This record gives sequence, structure tokens and C-alpha cells, in this order.
Amino acid sequence: MPTRRTKRGAERTPLGGEPDVLICGASFAGLAVARELAASGADVLVVDRYEIGERQTSACAAPTGWLRALGLEGAMRQTFDTLVVHTPYMTARMRLPWTFSTFDYRELCGLLWEQCDAKFETAKVEGRAGTVIRTDRGEIRAPLVVDALGWRRILAGDGGYQPPDAPLSRGLEVHPWGAGDELEIWIDRGYVPAGYSWSFPAADEVRVGVGSFDPLHHVKEPTVRLAADLEREAVRYQGNWIPHRLRPAAADGIFFAGDSAGHCLPLTAEGIRTAFYFGIACGRELRAVVDRRKDRERALRDYAHFSATHRWKFEAMLRVQRLVPRLPPRLLAASLRAMESRRFLDWSFGHYLEIAPPEFAGAAPTSGQADALSAAA
Ligand SMILES: Cc1cc2nc3c(=O)[nH]c(=O)nc-3n(C[C@H](O)[C@H](O)[C@H](O)COP(=O)(O)OP(=O)(O)OC[C@H]3O[C@@H](n4cnc5c(N)ncnc54)[C@H](O)[C@@H]3O)c2cc1C
Repeated sequence: MPTRRTKRGAERTPLGGEPDVLICGASFAGLAVARELAASGADVLVVDRYEIGERQTSACAAPTGWLRALGLEGAMRQTFDTLVVHTPYMTARMRLPWTFSTFDYRELCGLLWEQCDAKFETAKVEGRAGTVIRTDRGEIRAPLVVDALGWRRILAGDGGYQPPDAPLSRGLEVHPWGAGDELEIWIDRGYVPAGYSWSFPAADEVRVGVGSFDPLHHVKEPTVRLAADLEREAVRYQGNWIPHRLRPAAADGIFFAGDSAGHCLPLTAEGIRTAFYFGIACGRELRAVVDRRKDRERALRDYAHFSATHRWKFEAMLRVQRLVPRLPPRLLAASLRAMESRRFLDWSFGHYLEIAPPEFAGAAPTSGQADALSAAA
């Protein structure tokens, strides 16, 4: 069981103050923003309801290239060059042109945090009035505010999303102790009518779960059943809603990064590298404001535009997400067989990685860094 490290009782002294940048949320997106602001000279405050790395939010598999680009190799647990896809009729072995690695969430967050020079406080963010952010430890005022709080998009003025009526998938997994050699997924309506199931080994534990693209479909029973089918224990649960549609990355003077902006990719529900990618893009815009190369309004516009230029790719993936569950199982099996070809895998997974490529990360930021986002746009 993870030990709770969040401040309790008398430790929860009132918060206040006026940092230059307030980053709400200290997971993948929030920490990527903070890393990009290192050595900028800005007074950056990061808040989260839990201590950094305390509460794992995913199966923690990401392209190895991204983990290397961010100097996070130390958190890696296992690396896979093949994706094994099971259907009721066949198993496809897809040799990928690049690898995925599973990692330890707490260690990864710790390594990212070491690259930041921000301050951190545990506080629950409750809402905002303008650029005054309300937390359970008091109000914080900041000219530059980032919502990296996940799918709830708490700082939006639009009332947020209410599952199950929102474009959200749902995911649940268990983390039994044990080992495995293969990164496996199941496209099998016996487990979930629209979605997929997975088993991701990570050295001494395996993350076994089910994701449903249809938010009305519950995933606890199939998760327990999949674990039983794999002779794994259904223990140490973690689950969440997963957005599958982009939302405006800037609104009402707030920057949104990661799941709060719907930056998780439809179909695969891969949201870690995109949280890094858009978090870095957001951090670069904030840095341009800190360095007085842009004003806040221009940075908000440019960041929103940058995010929106990816819309067609997210929409294309959403179309495939909607198509796959409608394919007759035998046609799906035949399509997967055809997709096993080296040429197809290089082409399709190459394009897939290009949606948020690891080269975007660049070197760890230093003071006086050029505005790489403007250069990349
Ligand atoms: C079961 C499951 C498995 C997944 N597996 C993978 C995977 O293997 N690979 C992959 O790429 N993606 C995976 N995803 C998707 C991925 O987890 C998300 O896309 C990713 O975590 C988004 O990162 P984020 O930083 O935007 O948000 P989050 O990781 O959700 O972080 C939000 C942060 O905000 C904090 N927070 C929330 N509300 C408040 C509040 N009111 N006050 C203060 N703090 C608050 C939280 O504590 C958290 O630290 C999975 C999702 C699920 C549900």
C-alpha cells in the first residue's frame, strides 16, 4: 500500500501569496510545465492535493524515446519492442519501429521534480474567481495560471464535464505483484464492447486493466475477470476517466495542459507523452511571458493555436476509435494480420509517434533559452 504523505491537520497552514506562475496539478502535464520554467527566474508555485508522485494515475507505459529525452531513464522498469494484440480469432505480434517502456510513477515524478526549481505545496484546488485561485488552504493570486488538474478541468469557466454524458472513456486496472515478458492488449468484446484490455508488466508488478470508450459501460467486472483469466490477483486498483476529445487549451486567461485540455489520444488512450508535449509547449509560452518576449494574451493565443493545429490528428484517431468496435471480429482479425507487415508498422507507428515526437522535448531548459515553440510552430 502506498503511504500517504499529504500534509494533514496542523501541517496544513494557510496558503497565500502571489507567485508569477501558479501550476495546478503535479502529474505529467504540470511537472512538464514546471520543468520548462526552470532557471527562468520566475517565482513558480506548483500545487496538488497529493504529494508529488503519491497517487499513480495510469498504467505508466510511454515511448522510451520520451523518457530518455526527459532524462527519466532511472524510473524505467521494462522495455518492449513488440506489441501483442489478441482477438478472439488470432494473436498479432507487432514489431514496433520504436519501443515502449513501463516506469515507476513515483520515481518518474521525483526525477522530473529534480529538474524544476519551483516551490510545491499540497492543496486541493476548489475553483477560481478571475486569476484568484481558491484552495482548501486559502486563495492564491497569480498572473499566469495553468490547469493541469486532469479531466475535471476545474478552472474552466464552462462548468466542466459530467460523466457519463461527456466525451470521456473510463479505465480501471489492478496491480498484482508478478512478472511478464510481453506488452499485451486484447480487442475482445467478451471483455468490453468498445475499447480494449491490457497487461503491462513493470519488473515486479503487472498492470492489468480494461478501458471502455463508452462511458456508460462499467469496467470493474471485466477487469476482475481478465485478471482471473491471466491468473493474476485483482489487487491495488486504480482507475479514472480519460478524455477522448480536445478542448480549448486556453480560456478565460487560463492555460490548460494534459487531460484538462483533452490532450489524451483517442483510440489508444495514450496521454502521458501528450501531457509532456503540450506541457512543454505551455511552459515555453509562459517562459516567453516571463522573459518579456510576449504578453500574456499573445501567449494564451499562441498556445491555444498550437494545440488546435493538432485537432485533425486527434479527430482522425477518434474516427478509428469509433470504427474498430463496429468491425466484424473476423474482419478485425484479417486487418490486424495485414497490419503485421514491417512496412505498415513502420509507416503507421512512425506517424503515430510524430503526433507528439520526443525530439520536441529538447535539452533541459536553461536561462536565456530561445523560444523553441515559436521556432517549431
Ligand atoms: C487506468 C488508466 C491507465 C492508463 N494508462 C496509460 C498508459 O499506460 N500510458 C499513457 O500514456 N496513458 C495512460 N493513461 C492516460 C493517462 O493516465 C492520462 O492521460 C495522464 O495521466 C494525463 O496526465 P495529466 O498530468 O494531464 O493528468 P493527471 O495525471 O490526471 O494528473 C492530474 C493531477 O492533478 C491533481 N488534482 C486533481 N484534482 C485536483 C484538485 N482539485 N486539487 C489539487 N490537485 C488536483 C491530481 O492529484 C494529479 O496529480 C491511463 C489512464 C487510466 C485511467
